[in-house]
Order: sequence, then structure tokens, then C-alpha cells
Amino acid sequence: MVPVDLAKRAAELRATLNYHNYRYYVLDDPEISDAEYDRLLRELEDIEKEHPELITPDSPTQRVGATPVGGFASVTHPIPMYSLANAFSDSDLREFDQRVRTAAGHSKVEYILELKIDGLAVSLQYVNGLLTTGATRGDGTVGEDITSNLRTLPGVPLRLQEPYTLTVRGEAYMSKAAFARLNAEREEAGQPLFANPRNAAAGSLRQLDPKITASRGLDIFFYSLAAIAERPMPTTQEETLQLLRQVGFPVNQQRVVLSDIEEVIDYCQAWHQKRHALPYDIDGIVIKVNDLELQEQLGYTAKSPRWAVAYKFPAEQVQTRLLDIVISVGRTGTLNPNAVLEPVTIAGSVVSRASLHNADLIAAKDIRIGDTVIVQKAGDIIPEVVGPVPALRTGEEKVFVMPTTCPECGTPVVREPQEVAWRCPNGSCPAVLREGLIHFASRDAMDIEGLGPAMVSALLEADLVRDVADLYALQVEQLTALERVGQKTAENLLTAIAKSKENSLERLIFALGIRHVGAKGAQSLAAHFGSLDRLMEASAEELQQIPDVGSKMAASIINYFAADANRRVIAKLKSAGVNQRYLGTQAQEGVLSGKTFVITGTLPGVTREQATQLIEQHGGQVASSVSKKTDYLLAGEKAGSKLTKARELGVPVLSWEELKVLLRSN
Ligand code: NAD
Repeated sequence: MVPVDLAKRAAELRATLNYHNYRYYVLDDPEISDAEYDRLLRELEDIEKEHPELITPDSPTQRVGATPVGGFASVTHPIPMYSLANAFSDSDLREFDQRVRTAAGHSKVEYILELKIDGLAVSLQYVNGLLTTGATRGDGTVGEDITSNLRTLPGVPLRLQEPYTLTVRGEAYMSKAAFARLNAEREEAGQPLFANPRNAAAGSLRQLDPKITASRGLDIFFYSLAAIAERPMPTTQEETLQLLRQVGFPVNQQRVVLSDIEEVIDYCQAWHQKRHALPYDIDGIVIKVNDLELQEQLGYTAKSPRWAVAYKFPAEQVQTRLLDIVISVGRTGTLNPNAVLEPVTIAGSVVSRASLHNADLIAAKDIRIGDTVIVQKAGDIIPEVVGPVPALRTGEEKVFVMPTTCPECGTPVVREPQEVAWRCPNGSCPAVLREGLIHFASRDAMDIEGLGPAMVSALLEADLVRDVADLYALQVEQLTALERVGQKTAENLLTAIAKSKENSLERLIFALGIRHVGAKGAQSLAAHFGSLDRLMEASAEELQQIPDVGSKMAASIINYFAADANRRVIAKLKSAGVNQRYLGTQAQEGVLSGKTFVITGTLPGVTREQATQLIEQHGGQVASSVSKKTDYLLAGEKAGSKLTKARELGVPVLSWEELKVLLRSN
């Protein structure tokens, strides 16, 4: 007999876990941390182990992921995609080893250890060497057809080195750098942030518009071969990985083959710290039986293979005290609440500040000043407050109240409908001016070396600048009169300011700090319009024809240029000699340095802009017409006169796949 309260608890856990599965796999928007999810799942597994009669077919212990809903066509996986059983401790690993050796009847088993990339599993099919289908895992049996999105990933070969027909699995992921960039852009555009790179990768791959996926900078590692025709299957996982690499799939090179479980444990522990140095997130180490025949002999449970286990790193969450919540005013006037924390070490560094994003979030999480709070590093980079620990409250905690006036200039703050942020509407608020100047000089903007926050504050205190254009009128004597500024510093700063006049237009557009216009938006605007004058005259319709520009950004640009004060600053910049024209993308060094390409026809799964970007990233140039000087013609479907001309002139013609092979083999 099962005690009633256990049956009730199991039902409760099933419902809760299924709800969180839906948020995680379908909405890409989890509410609880993975560690918390794993804890709940383990509780259910323990109950079910004691009382197998409580297992229901819909139990999250019996199913992989969640059934996909809407949006994409369904793909039935010819070979099911499994999840992995988890190990959270050394003893879990020893038990796994014991189970495997008993089932195998061997005293020693060879394991291969691979990094557990924190992304999402995808399955790809190739027919005669060509990519035909790419799908998400879904519930393991049925996934979503995301072929056009997967085609945009530079790591996904469209044509293999050998004309094999095969099915491979891999993990699509977002690097820490791409994640930080994406969230910064989203914050700027007032969009909700992704909780971590894994959710960002999942959200980016499950877009209905492949252009969006392409812009997100996703990467991929392949780790298994589900089936192959034309040649026998390899005999070990190590051989599989080598074969995958040979035919053109990116494979993670961090791996090791070990037979002693104690060495396996040491390896897992070593990566616990080392992982912070990787450019992408891993959430554990996958331990697989190396011999594929033995794998087959061990088989599968309903959810995962018996021949593998995922060792999960303990969650890097810590508790500390929230000493205060302070407000900083951003360059667009937003009031940003920041947590002042009792310093605490997390994921290898000391954290004493963390963003609290906005007042709504503080209220929703019921975070109070004086609370003991849980802090984590989202994506191992940005510290964030997960929530309070109400059980540790003393009654002394204070509820946070957003100030009603700007802490810098005293102007009553406002909040636009549908926006979460409160904002100081005073365009000449000292904080807005200070942050605006710091942004103007920053590396991705005008890149003025020596003009950091301290120098900006000194210039403002001495009343030497009242807008960004005043920077270009500064004199050496004015600077040397400032405290701690010598002749050399002053001269270097003026040289850097003068040099910034030569910048291409995209830097200036970004530097102006127009709301919702990030570095990428600025690049598209500059390339499209060519000059600031033309951009200033553009209508909302014209602006929205540019791929990266939505209605919100268009409205913000129109508003910005409608303001007299902004037009005056732009005129001042012009008369100071600041370049307001687009100078084209700077040539980069790479395998295509010195090579000129012409593009023609429809390329498979990529736009002309993306192809141009790829060529330029590798140092090449793209011209518009074919001549004797053309080194390559990149030709897609329905290529016309340019192809004929290239053939006449003996210019080599490349397909998109051939270009990618050329780039990879260099
Ligand atoms: P998993 O993440 O525990 O492990 C299986 C997956 O690992 C595979 O499907 C594959 O995608 C991946 N993987 C990465 N590198 C690999 C490699 N080298 N070899 C083989 N596989 C590799 O399992 P899952 O089913 O994808 O996800 C379950 C986990 O997701 C839970 O344990 C939990 O941490 C998290 N989750 C969180 C929530 C939430 O609300 N926070 C909800 C559901 C799931």
C-alpha cells in the first residue's frame, strides 16, 4: 500500500514538473533554476523507485522533454532521441560504473568523457552528402522541423566531404560573448532578457524567421552518429567523433578515454573550475561507454541510455545579504535599480553588485532591503539576484520603493505605457549627459581612448562640455588646468578626439545614443543610407524596410531627429569636421585577404548580406560587377549574365558550400 500523502506528493510533483517542462522546452522561458528542477525531479524519482506502482505514462521521469506545439512542421525521428540520466555526486558515478560493469560482465570498462555543452539537442539528416532535414529533439519521438534555421549556422555543413547518407546529433549553443551581446541589445530595445545562453539558443533556433536565427551567432558541436549507409558504423564513440570531424562536422576536442572510475571522478571535478575559462557554458561532463557494441548490449530505459550518464556540476548559487538597493541613471534616463550585496565569491570571482533590472521584478520576487538573497551568475557572467530567502527574515527588512523624482536632478520620473522602466525625462539631466558622453567615447562608439568616466566627470565639473560636440573644441590649456591632467595626457586625449573625426558613420550613429539603436542597428542604417543627412530625412516607412529596423526603432529615430537640440548638436559636429558618411566595412585580415568576390543568384539559406559579411570577416571584398580583377564568383541558383561573363573571363566559380569548405580547410 502506498501512503496517501506520498501518492499525493507524487501527483503534485508530476504536475509541477510538467508545468516547468512546458516553460523550459516550449516557451524557452524557465521560472525556476535547473538545480531546483533537478531537485524536484529527483524527489519524484525517489518516490517512484520505492513505489513503482505510482509511475504514470505521463510522468516526467518517463518522458523526454515536452511535446512541441505549433509553429513548425513535425518531424518523426527515425531513431528516437534520448535524454541522459544524471549523476550529482561521486557516489552516483561509482554506482553507474558498478551497474555498467555488472551488466557487461567485465571487470573493466572503457569510458569516453565529453563536455556537456549547455545548449539544445538537434538531429540532422544528410542524403548523399547533402543536408535534407534538421530537427529539435521535442519529446524524443517527434521534434520540430527547423531545417532553414539550422542552415544558417556556420558550423552546420550543407554538403559533407563524403557523399554519405547519415543521421547525426549535436548540441546547438550560444557562446558567452554572443549571449552577452544579445542581452545587451535586448535591454537597449526594452525587450525581455534571456535567462541564460541555453534558453537564448533555444529561443533563437525556434524562430519562424531564419534571418533572426542567423543574426544570433549560434554555434554547434556534433557528438553522435545515429545511422550511416555506405560504410560500416565505427566500433567506438572515439572513432565516431573522428569520423564526424573528417566528413566536416565540428566536434569538441576536449575529451578523454578512461577506465578507472576514480580517474573519471577526478576529471569531472577538474572541469568544475576549469569550465569558467571556456567561451561557452557547459553544465557537466557526459560519461559514455566507449565500445558501441557494449552500448547496444546495455540498451535504454524509457528516457535515457543505460550506457551513459551526465555528471552535473553543483549549481553556482550562493546566499548573501542585500545591504541596499541604489539607483543609477542610464544614458537614456532610465532609473536602474542595483543590488548592493555583502561581498561573496561566486563562480570564481567576488560579487558585491548585481542588477535588479526594474521595479516590477523586485516587487514580483518580493525582494526586500536587508533580505538574505540567493545570487547566481547567469551564463556564468552577469551576477543576478534569484530571489529572497523569506525563512531567514527578521522583520527588519524594508520594502523597496522606486523614487518618484530623479536622484540626479530632481525631475519627476515618468513611465511610458508598456515599458517596465521609469525614466528621467529631463534631456539635460547631468546623469544623462554624463552617461551619454561616456557612451559616445566608448569602444564600439567613437572609440576615444582616455575619455572614460573619470575624465568625463572632470570635464563636466569644470563646465568644459555641455554636449558631445563640445569635445571637439577642447584646448590643451583647458585640460591641463584640470586636476591630475598633465601635458602628455591632455595631448593624447586631444589626438584621440581628433582621430575620432575620421570614423565611419555607423560609429557616429551608435554614439549618438538614440534609444533602441544598438551597434548592429547603426551598422545597417549607415550601410543603407550612406550619410547622416539622408538618415535624418528618412520616413518611418523607409526606415522599416531595413531588415534590422522595427517600428519601435523607426519611431525612436524619427523622434530623435525631430528634436531641435539634437539637430543643433549634429550641425555642431559637422562644422567641427566629424565625418558623417559611411566608409564601408573595414577590411579584415583573413584567408580571403586581397581576394575580390562577386555574388550572383540565390544562395541556399543565406542572404547576400550574410554572404558578404562572411567574406569580409575572412578579409575578402565584395564587388558588384565581374571583371578581370574578380578572383571568385560566388554563384547560387538562377545565376545569369554575371555567370556567363565570369566563364568568359576564366574567373573561378564557387558554390556557397564550396566557399564554406574553402574557409574551413584553411
Ligand atoms: P540533460 O540536459 O540533463 O542531458 C541530455 C542532453 O545533453 C542531450 O539531449 C544533449 O542535448 C546534451 N548534451 C550536451 N553535450 C552532450 C554530449 N557531449 N553528448 C551527449 N549529449 C550531450 O537533459 P535534457 O533532457 O536536455 O534536459 C533536462 C535538464 O534540463 C534538467 O536536468 C534541468 O536541468 C533542465 N530543465 C530545467 C527546467 C527549468 O524549469 N529550469 C525545466 C526542464 C528541464
